Order: sequence, then C-alpha cells, then structure tokens
Amino acid sequence: MPDATARARTRWAALVSLIEEARAAYYLHDRPTLDDLEYDRLFAELVAIEAEFPQLQTQDSPTMAVGGAASEMFTPVEHLQRMYSLDNVFDADELDAWFARLERAVGATPLLCELKIDGLAIDAVYERGRLRSLATRGDGRVGEDVTFNARYIPAIPQVLTPEPGAVVPELIEVRGEIFFTVAAFDALNAEQMDQGLSPFANPRNAAAGSLRQRVDRREDELAQVRAQASTSRQGARVERLEAELRRSTRRLEELRLTVHGIGTVIGVELESQSHAYQVLHDLGLPTSDRAEVRADADGARAYVEHYGVHRHDVEHEIDGVVIKVDDLALQRELGETARAPRWAIAYKYPPEVVRTRLLDIQVNVGRTGRVTPFAVMEPVKVAGSTVAMATLHNGFEVERKGVLIGDMVFLRKAGDVIPEVLGPVVELRTGEERAFRMPTHCPDCGTELRPEKEGDKDLRCPNARYCPAQLRERLFHVASRGALDIEGLGAKAATAMLDGGVVADVGDLFLVDETALLRCDFFRRDGDVLTENARGILAQLDIARTRPLWRVLVALSIRHVGPSAAQALAREFASIEAIAAAAPEELAAVEGVGGVIAEAVREWFAVDWHQEVVDKWRRGGVRLEEAQVRAEGGPLMGVSVVITGSIDGYTRDSAAQAVADAGGKAVSSVSKRTDVVVAGANAGSKLDKALALGVPVVGPERFAELLTGGLAAVLPS
Ligand code: NAD
Repeated sequence: MPDATARARTRWAALVSLIEEARAAYYLHDRPTLDDLEYDRLFAELVAIEAEFPQLQTQDSPTMAVGGAASEMFTPVEHLQRMYSLDNVFDADELDAWFARLERAVGATPLLCELKIDGLAIDAVYERGRLRSLATRGDGRVGEDVTFNARYIPAIPQVLTPEPGAVVPELIEVRGEIFFTVAAFDALNAEQMDQGLSPFANPRNAAAGSLRQRVDRREDELAQVRAQASTSRQGARVERLEAELRRSTRRLEELRLTVHGIGTVIGVELESQSHAYQVLHDLGLPTSDRAEVRADADGARAYVEHYGVHRHDVEHEIDGVVIKVDDLALQRELGETARAPRWAIAYKYPPEVVRTRLLDIQVNVGRTGRVTPFAVMEPVKVAGSTVAMATLHNGFEVERKGVLIGDMVFLRKAGDVIPEVLGPVVELRTGEERAFRMPTHCPDCGTELRPEKEGDKDLRCPNARYCPAQLRERLFHVASRGALDIEGLGAKAATAMLDGGVVADVGDLFLVDETALLRCDFFRRDGDVLTENARGILAQLDIARTRPLWRVLVALSIRHVGPSAAQALAREFASIEAIAAAAPEELAAVEGVGGVIAEAVREWFAVDWHQEVVDKWRRGGVRLEEAQVRAEGGPLMGVSVVITGSIDGYTRDSAAQAVADAGGKAVSSVSKRTDVVVAGANAGSKLDKALALGVPVVGPERFAELLTGGLAAVLPS
C-alpha cells in the first residue's frame, strides 16, 4: 500500500512540524499558541500514525522526546538522572487499560496517588544538605540552570533543615513542581495587564515564565548603571531597573514548590515513593499532604473521582491526578520508554483553558444603565458547557486585556465560574483584526453615556426611566428566580409587554389583567383567547404578590441590594415604608448593610418615579411588609443550616433561599453552632467536619421535611 504509506508520511511530517512549533511557543517562550486539548489531539494522532507505520518513528520524532528544550539563554546543566514526561489517559476506559497492563506486568501492587499540579518540573540537587543547583527539565537530559533565582524563592531551601534524627544524604536529586496558587496567578495576570503585557494563558506558563527570568543579568545591569549614574537620565534608568527587578523577585517569592520525585540519591536507602516523600519531608522539603497510597486500582479510581469533583477545592490548579507504582524495586523493573516511565500515569481532567476566535465585541445595557462590553466568540466547549459569550466588564478592561476583534483568544472557564477571556494569541494575528471602540451613546436610546461619578470605569446610560433596554432588563429582572420568580415572563414576554403597550414600566406589572394582555398579539390566540403562557403569567403574578419582602426589595433593582442585603433590611425594618423612612445611619447600622448600600437605598427612594413604582405595586396588591408567619417565626426560625453537596431540584442558591424563606439561616461553614448539616450527593469536607464535631447530619431526601417541619421533623427526639 505505497499510497497509504505516502499519505501517512505526509501527515506525519505535517504533525511533527505543528507539534514542534507549538512546543517552542510553549516551552521556550512560555506563550502557547494552541490550547492543551488541541495539542494533545495532534500528539495522539502522531502516536496513532506511528503505531500503524512504525517505520515513521525516527529518533527525532516528538513521541521519542520529553518535550521541552534548554534555551540558549541559560547555562545548560546535565541532570544526574534523566527526567521524564508522563503518559496520559483521558477517561476511565483508558485508565482501566493501563491498570490491566500494569497488573499483567507486576501483579496487584500499592499505588501512590497524587495531584498533577499545573506547574513546571524542576530538578534541585542538594549536596551535604546545601543547594548545589536548580534547573528546569529542559529536554530531560539537559535543563536550564536557574540556581541564581533560587535565593528569591523561599519555597526552595538553600540549606536543608532536617527534623531531629533525620539523616542528611551525601547527595540527593529532588524533583518537584514549581507553581503559583490560583490567587497568586490571578494577581500576576492582573499586574501583567496593568503593565500593558499580555496575561499568561495558564498557571504553568506563568510559573515557567517567572522561574525562567534572568534575574542575575538584571542585577548586573543595575549594578553597572548605578556605578555610572550621575546624570538625571541615568538616575531614571536606575529607578526603572530597580522597579523591574522588584517585580521579578516578587514573582519568584510567590512561587511554591511541591516535591514529587527523586533522581540520584547517595547516602540513604529508599524503598518506595511514599518512603521517599517521608524522607524529603523530614529534610524540610515541601511534600503534599494530599498524596496517598491506595491499596489497589479501585482505590486509585476513587482518588481520581474524588478530585474530579473537588478539583477547585485545591489552592492551586490541577490538571489531573498522577498514579505511581509505590514500590521502587517494581519501578526499576518496569523502567521507562524514551519519553515516560511505565510505572506512572497521568489521568488528565478536561482542560479549562481553550482557544477560540473572538468574533465581535458588543455592548449590553443593564437594568441599572451600566453599559457592558461582552465578547462574542466561536462557540467552544469548556469545563462541561459550551461557551459563546463572556463579559468584558468595561472599556478599560478590553484595553487592559489587549484583545482585538478577530483575535484568537484563550478563554478560561473553571467549574461553575463565569467564563473569562484571558487574552489574545498575539502571534497568530493576521493584521485583519480591529480594535473595539466603546460607544459614546446608548445603543438603545441614543443618550450620551457617562460615568456616574468622576473616575468610575463603568459608563452608564443616564436615561434610566425611559431607555428601552433598561425598561426591558428591569422587567425581566423582576421576574427572575432571585427576585419575584414569575415563571413565563422571560425576555420575549417582557419585550412583548413593553412593545405592545401592556406596561409602560415595571410599576404597571401588577396592574396587568386579562383585558390588558388581550390587547397584545403576543398573549392572544384565536382572536380573543389568552395563550397558555399568558394565563400562566397571571397566575404567577398572584403568587408573586405574596412573596417575602426581601424578594420585593431585590425586584426593585436598587443598586447593590442583592439577596443578603435585602434579607437584612427586611428582617430589621419589616416594611417598605419603614425602609424608605429610615435615616441613612439607621440603614447603615444593620448588619450586612453598611454605608454604601444605605446610601444607594436612600438615593433610590429619593427618586419620584421610583416612589410611583412602589405605589403602583401597592395598588396592584403586592405585599410590601413582612408576612405574619415570619414575624411569628417560620419552621426554621433561629436554626442554622449548612448545605453541602447537591440536592435534587435545587441549586446551591435556591436551597439556601428555601432555608431563608422558612425563617432559617443558611451558613457556609460548619461550626459547633451549626444545628444541622444537609449532606447531598458528593458532599465534601463539610460533611467530614460535621461528623468530627458531632453536628447532626441528614440526607437530601429529608430536606423538604426540614423546610416544612423544622428541626424536630428530621432529628430523633
Ligand atoms: P505532562 O504535563 O502531561 O506531564 C509531565 C509533567 O507533569 C512532569 O514533568 C511534571 O512537571 C508534571 N507533574 C505535575 N504534578 C506531578 C506529580 N505529582 N508527579 C509527577 N509529575 C507531575 O507532560 P509534559 O511533557 O510536561 O507536557 C505535555 C503537556 O503539556 C501536553 O499534554 C499539553 O497539555 C501541554 N503542552 C501544551 C502545548 C500547547 O501548545 N498548548 C505544547 C506543549 C505541551
């Protein structure tokens, strides 16, 4: 089949060149041009072609190499023992196949499970307890010497600090991961953008970019310039260099280390990976307390599953779990391929950073008039959902991120977190991209936009009362889950009500009746009959009329007044009149309210047409004071409830709200004062804590009983 071979050869060559290019961008410049999923797919395709056409696999194929390369910017250091990459699996079946292969080779054996930290590997050699060298992985044989940076990294001890009784080995080559915590990564990216630099695509590139700084050269340059600095121009240069050096060293100070391997060791006998970690820990090196030895494959699977759910409970990013044969003698027996050990496997979780095209930047006018630019992207799957839009907050933020319309961008969505455009892939620009210009006038009503007060980053449409976009958004908000929860009154129905003249603004909503709806095509069928949806809305309005006061407050779109402030206000004042009449100091004194919210409440009630809305709602039968039942105490009055894990039919927020509606207090952490913990599916550490503290725990199936019958209904008397 010469044709097939020739085709495979062509594809093979194309893949190799794509992979080499991506690797250079990723490892040498710390600026990836592909996302990891795209890279992993190319790599998997290459592996598959080489499996079918083994003659194509030459020594210089990327499948035969560890991945990186040592840049010429650094002095090369030869590792005492080779460093490897890891083979990957991406789902349970692939993991099972690996376990089966392992078992065939060495039988059942304990497995060390640990987190795959999203950082970069280093090799640190300690000789008689003193740091001799610190190097990056490079190509696995030769790394880059970054010893000069180690002085600034508190996580890497210059001298080992052994526990009493620990033996300091003659020489020990330690491997580990250098990384940023999520918080430090976010702060670093914010700083990058403030400096007009592109943000890093992921924590690993950020850590690599930070560790691979030539701080020593900066210091030399500064010393030289300082020695000659006599003119004011040189003085300014000294200042600039000092500031740069401070920034560099601060980045190094933020780096963390977790050790996860050993190379050459002289002077101690090690039996297992876990034993090695104990020894490293006793020498004063940072090991992870999340590493665990599991007896068998099932134990390792459970570990993989656990961190699949609790991935974001860890203070740093993880991209998977690493499973290693614990016994070092077995590790030696299994050995390594050209690229990776046979005794370890990385189970990779779905990536949370993807690359996609920024098709446009549009603006949205919110219910309080805030004009927000948002990214419209080619839809892309990330962290379990398809994302096509992401807020860009304001015009300054667009500029700070440096994105142009038409750019390829990196997009991050971690778990439940709102998707965020990280920044552009500048290397892929074609020159066709164009800059976004923040509009000067409201796209909906044409009014000139302005910040509310000087120095505000947000622009607002000041036409609060009549701007069609604001009217629509406010009406839509009244009906939303967090406010009065009027099912059926979605974006389309809200627009139809406004456009059809059924309501002029939110004030009219509770005056709407059958006759009013029948005047509008959208709510009418067969000439003079209400649609089902319209009848549903009327029924829902009735329910909404009796919702708790705090929901009414949320529905009014008072700036800064979300559910918790609204609940505090409702509890304290018990009626809209009392809130409107309260002095700002009285409002501010309420726990959970404070000065900013108090001022916003006062300002809101000072506007005539806002008062009209309240009056119309009163006329429309909306209950504007606390219900009697609440004053007398709901079933959960005075009860503090912690919810952990998921409960069928509820989101985290709606479950908390249900507790509040029943008069109880939903709190987020377990303490001795907690009355009961509801532990749903995949309950986490809160459950452990409740058990440890002896706090009563009930299952999700009892939640409804708890809400209606209170504590007595679910706890044994
Ligand atoms: P890898 O990241 O898949 O696995 C090996 C590395 O994992 C080790 O070198 C070590 O640094 C790290 N690691 C983290 N925690 C560990 C632990 N507990 N024990 C052992 N090692 C641990 O492999 P790699 O060769 O470093 O990189 C390949 C991966 O990098 C690709 O799968 C892809 O995700 C990414 N990559 C992306 C691009 C791109 O263009 N986006 C280019 C090259 C590589």
